[in-house]
Amino acid sequence: MDPVGIAAAPEAGPGPSWQSKCPWGAPNTTSISCSLADVMSEQLAKELQLEEENAAFPEVVAVAEGPFITGEDVDTSSDLMLAQMLQMEFDREYDAQLRREERKINGDSKVSISFENFRKVHPYDSDSSEDEVDWQDTRHDPYRADKPTTTPRKGFIGKGKDITTKHDEVVCGRKNTARMENFAPEFQVGDGIGMDLKLSNQVFNALKQHAYSEERRSARLHEKKEHSTAEKAVDPKTRLLLYKMVNGGMLETITGCISTGKESVVFHAYGGQSATEDKVIPPECAIKVFKTTLNEFKNRDKYIKDDYRFKDRFSKLNPRKIIRMWAEKEMHNLTRMQDAGIPCPQVVILKKHVLVMSFIGQDQVPAPKLKDVTLSSEDMKKAYCQTLNMMQQLYKECKLVHADLSEYNMLWHDGKVWLIDVSQSVEPTHPHGLEFLFRDCRNVSQFFQKGGVAEALNERELFNAVSGLNITADNEVDFQAEIEALEKMNEDHVQNHGKKLSMFSSDGDPPIYDE
Ligand code: ADP
Ligand code: MN
Repeated sequence: MDPVGIAAAPEAGPGPSWQSKCPWGAPNTTSISCSLADVMSEQLAKELQLEEENAAFPEVVAVAEGPFITGEDVDTSSDLMLAQMLQMEFDREYDAQLRREERKINGDSKVSISFENFRKVHPYDSDSSEDEVDWQDTRHDPYRADKPTTTPRKGFIGKGKDITTKHDEVVCGRKNTARMENFAPEFQVGDGIGMDLKLSNQVFNALKQHAYSEERRSARLHEKKEHSTAEKAVDPKTRLLLYKMVNGGMLETITGCISTGKESVVFHAYGGQSATEDKVIPPECAIKVFKTTLNEFKNRDKYIKDDYRFKDRFSKLNPRKIIRMWAEKEMHNLTRMQDAGIPCPQVVILKKHVLVMSFIGQDQVPAPKLKDVTLSSEDMKKAYCQTLNMMQQLYKECKLVHADLSEYNMLWHDGKVWLIDVSQSVEPTHPHGLEFLFRDCRNVSQFFQKGGVAEALNERELFNAVSGLNITADNEVDFQAEIEALEKMNEDHVQNHGKKLSMFSSDGDPPIYDE
């Protein structure tokens, strides 16, 4: 939410750059179907794991590797997905059965056989540690036959007409077979090394080439996974939630990622059909996924902990539920703003930690942030006046302080300013509500003053204009001190009388102290 975080996060534009990198791209290459299977297998495993974790200790959802893919044709892609899930499940069961048979046949015998090469799941596609434990590597079998003999260093053995040089076909073939040991450990060479196999140079070279390319593929696969984790992949549970929205028809397609920040990932989607007639889904939607880790959540709890609206619930909740509360808070705050007529995204639906709202922008291009747009001085002045009005409305009508207001969370669209990102917004009576408001005022003043708006009030004037308070201190330090004293007074009042000071509950009129 803070400007620094946003600046640090690479903003994915809607151009071809994200289309090529974005994990939401259409599944049109063969390599994707491979990593897709990977994803789905992991999803199943992780789901089960999460269920267990949930029961034991409610952990936060981890960001999983692997892309989430929707095709242009939603039905086809979800059928494909289902088919692949089923296939994966089948393959896993098949492999498990193989392992059981392997164990049954081998028993306690010192000589064991391996069905490794009959397994369905490619070792690169499987992350399951279960597989690793049971994987019988025949090449390390201590009971296997000795390696074929190779020629000594001098290059030939024998004498006279029995001499065999290193170029001898048979010796060379055996040597090639032995050299297969140098291939990457994942490379499946079967039982060839243990047998008296003779590989011609041609075959060996082809195999070597293949082994190297497999190695590179494996590295690429790994790299891709890490990349998508760092980028904007969502965890399996979120992916499932999003699938349901698309499958249910509420969303037409999820096209790509608009933004990835420390605390949320925002996607663009085309709206679909509403299940109920009274609700209209906007043609374009923004999906905000709250991807909160425990650390992030700790930094933010000051906003929610002291917000009396959430007071009773906070203490009883586990972190995962608190993440949902952020989303819920954003939804409530947006609804209040909408009711007051403040330009802001319209809430479509909230599902757990996923908030769907109307998209500010057009044709997949999000409206620019105020910090990124160059406005004429006329528009700049217009934007300022509008911002001042919105801040007053927000405070007086919505009883809210944005608490992260700056040019980073104001979008310029349709010739006006739109407010976004209100999950951290609090009521003015929040123990630090006025401090947050002062910070907002500082950001807004500085931005418009630097932007050349002569009318722009300074931060202290703006604070008074928005809050209706009349703090007279003429310097920032004293002003801040007075704000804190006010907050303390209000807290004490709440403690002693169980209610807020009337200055906070006035209905639009300039607030007055009743003490
Ligand atoms: P955070 O800053 O916490 O990551 P925001 O709500 O500010 O989350 O969203 C991040 C970015 O995503 C915004 O800066 C904006 O560019 C884009 N965005 C968010 N919501 C919308 C929306 N409804 N329409 C268009 N773009 C949006
Ligand atoms: Mn933001």
